[in-house]
Amino acid sequence: MIKKVVMENLLCSGCAKKIEDEIKTIKSINNATFNFANQTMLLDVTEEYNEQEMLPKIKKIVDSIEDGVNTYLYKNKDTVKKNTNNSYNSFFIGVLVYLIAYMFRANLSSLFEVSLYIVGYIFISSKIIRKTIKGIRRKDIFNENMLMFIATLAAMFLKEYFEASLVIIFYTLGEYLQQKAVSKSKNEVKGLIDLKVDYSNVLIGNTIVIKEPEEIEVDDVIVVKNGEKIPVDGIIVEGYSSLNSSALTGESRLVDVKVNDNVLSGNINVGKVLKIKATKIYEDSTVARLIDLIENSTNHKSAPENFITKFARVYTPVVSVLALLMFMIPTLLGYKTIDENIYNAAIFLVISCPCALVLSIPLSYFAGIGAAAKEGILFKGSTYLHMLTEVDTIGIDKTGTLTNGFFSVNDYSSDEVLKIIASAERYSNHPIAKSIVEYYEGDYINFVDIEEIPGKGLSASFENNVYIIGNDELMKQHHVKYKKVRSVGTVIYLAKEKKYIGHMIITDSLKQNTVRAIKKMKKRFNITMLTGDNFEVASDVALALNSINFKSNLLPEDKITEFNNLDSKNYKMFIGDGINDSPLLKNADIGVAMGNGSEIAIDVADIIIIDDDLEKINTATKIAIRTKRIVYQNIVLSIGVKVLFLTLAGFGKTSMLEAIFADVGISLIAVLNSLRIIYGFNFIKESNRELRQATKFFKAFGNITSMSIIELLTDQEYSIEELAKELKKSTVDIYRHVEKLVKQGLVKETVINDNVVFALKDECVKDIICIAYKHLDE
Ligand code: ADP
Ligand code: MG
Repeated sequence: MIKKVVMENLLCSGCAKKIEDEIKTIKSINNATFNFANQTMLLDVTEEYNEQEMLPKIKKIVDSIEDGVNTYLYKNKDTVKKNTNNSYNSFFIGVLVYLIAYMFRANLSSLFEVSLYIVGYIFISSKIIRKTIKGIRRKDIFNENMLMFIATLAAMFLKEYFEASLVIIFYTLGEYLQQKAVSKSKNEVKGLIDLKVDYSNVLIGNTIVIKEPEEIEVDDVIVVKNGEKIPVDGIIVEGYSSLNSSALTGESRLVDVKVNDNVLSGNINVGKVLKIKATKIYEDSTVARLIDLIENSTNHKSAPENFITKFARVYTPVVSVLALLMFMIPTLLGYKTIDENIYNAAIFLVISCPCALVLSIPLSYFAGIGAAAKEGILFKGSTYLHMLTEVDTIGIDKTGTLTNGFFSVNDYSSDEVLKIIASAERYSNHPIAKSIVEYYEGDYINFVDIEEIPGKGLSASFENNVYIIGNDELMKQHHVKYKKVRSVGTVIYLAKEKKYIGHMIITDSLKQNTVRAIKKMKKRFNITMLTGDNFEVASDVALALNSINFKSNLLPEDKITEFNNLDSKNYKMFIGDGINDSPLLKNADIGVAMGNGSEIAIDVADIIIIDDDLEKINTATKIAIRTKRIVYQNIVLSIGVKVLFLTLAGFGKTSMLEAIFADVGISLIAVLNSLRIIYGFNFIKESNRELRQATKFFKAFGNITSMSIIELLTDQEYSIEELAKELKKSTVDIYRHVEKLVKQGLVKETVINDNVVFALKDECVKDIICIAYKHLDE
């Protein structure tokens, strides 16, 4: 069970680690991880955990380690806010005292001057001194504040008042700037995930009452007007409109909806008013679950993060011991003066905090996860973001993943066969079943004892006769004598009491983006399609995808065996639609579910692509690679600078001031570098940007259907029928539009394998862009 406690203003890396460690010692808490970016402590708790009782305990731990942190239960925002402003007051007083002493040093007696320096120093370091005392109380000897205090105290002792104070000033200033940068990026990432629904209009009697989304109950009717976001999952009871899914998927794609359609929360209504009956409460709805997922994503930490945690744990003690040796060895050997040796040792202590790493690495991953979420790609943990960069082999499902999963019925033996098959398929959730039921118009016979046979088909009884409906395998298994139908398409055989009575052929088509997406994916991954469908269909699809490897006729359990048999030097990823391949999604190193936030998919997959777009796999890979690169830059940079300054200090070649300057500087650079993940990921869409702009222009000024056709044709050729299906319009209507586009010279007609298809004229795409740009400039 995961519980969340918000720790607002906890921005010091070392403290968070200590708080985690202390909280873990509580009996009912197995694990605690702090997410800097959204300021919450995730607690993995046992049954005995009692939130209300534990909170004061947790608060006490937090307060014993860091000042000014506002600790409260997640969702319970109205706790007393602490006044955190005065934590810098004494710092400024100290700086002032120090400046006065420095300016008037000529007029002051040296004793008075020194006393002022000391008073200034005490004020400046008040925060550090307070933390040092807290550390001593907790018997925490390698507390970086204490080490910093000892180091600067040593410098004061050596009469380096100026340097000692400046070191603390830099250190405090650096911490302050880091905090600013972290909270800025936190907001930045939150802004990326623009999912939150602020309010909802609930219909009570005839009046609309504005409520928090959390207050909606199942069966409440909510009114969603133009421009508003749907707050909970539900079903349309009145009205028709278009929905924009950009908040969920990152892509402004419009979907037409009407009465009885199920709609997901997070979609924005861009048309007429809709009345929607809630089928789920807010907490169980898509939006809330996705937000939860993203916020919990720090729970599965990546390899570099785990490395940093371990590194941070040993770094401070090792450096402290080195500092001690730095002082003792030369002193005992009588090498250099004692003062010089104290000074060099103090430099070690000044750079004993692994802050840059502890702060910037988790932040980088959070930024990566946020950038991906913006695109409708959800990572369940930073570990998957990291592992994705090391995947070399992909197993991929066919139906619903590569193909649309909407089958068109091509042929059937007789109307009776169609009626029997459709009647039985009513009870199945398989895409095949749904498509057949949608196709069939007529009355049903009432089957009983319906049983699904995964990867094969169904069996059902009517008037004491057992019918079986499914593929070759199923017929063979029941020793039915049937005639094998050779045709590209999925063949469904029907037998009554083990006697063959007919068949049906259905076909599916590739998704709009499949060809392009697979082409890109092939550059990086070995792809094998794993399907339960027959050899003919599988080879046909594989061929269309430039001959990818495939395995056909697989039962769900065979898919796992075949997937495990795939060669790989590194990680293996499985991509499926989550409908009948959840075991595989779980079994793979990384399971990727395509789908519209279907519940099973959200539960079992490690990465979820909210819309059905395979292209997003390439986007996800790019974001992952970029994140990894920045993480590695930060690691090398931070550790490199530390090692450099430790070495320089070892040879007495640097000053304390230079060391702290480099240390704080690197922390800031590392944090800012992490932010590049958010700002820099736009390049992914760069190639599409112009086209998108042009399309937008036409959307606004031209005819929507024509533009949708052009949009589709930018990816591949389509026949009139395919376009009609894609755009949910009549073929006559589409033909009219296409004819116009051909006349305008935007679209050309070609013949492929005796089929008339339409494509964009190459030069014409450029023309559109030119026109669009001209108008955009105006
Ligand atoms: P895929 O691997 O393409 O997702 P499945 O493993 O779900 O396919 O199904 C494999 C095959 O089993 C299908 O191609 C079909 O021939 C048969 N089958 C599965 N479910 C049904 C069903 N409800 N009705 C008829 N045939 C089915
Ligand atoms: Mg499938």
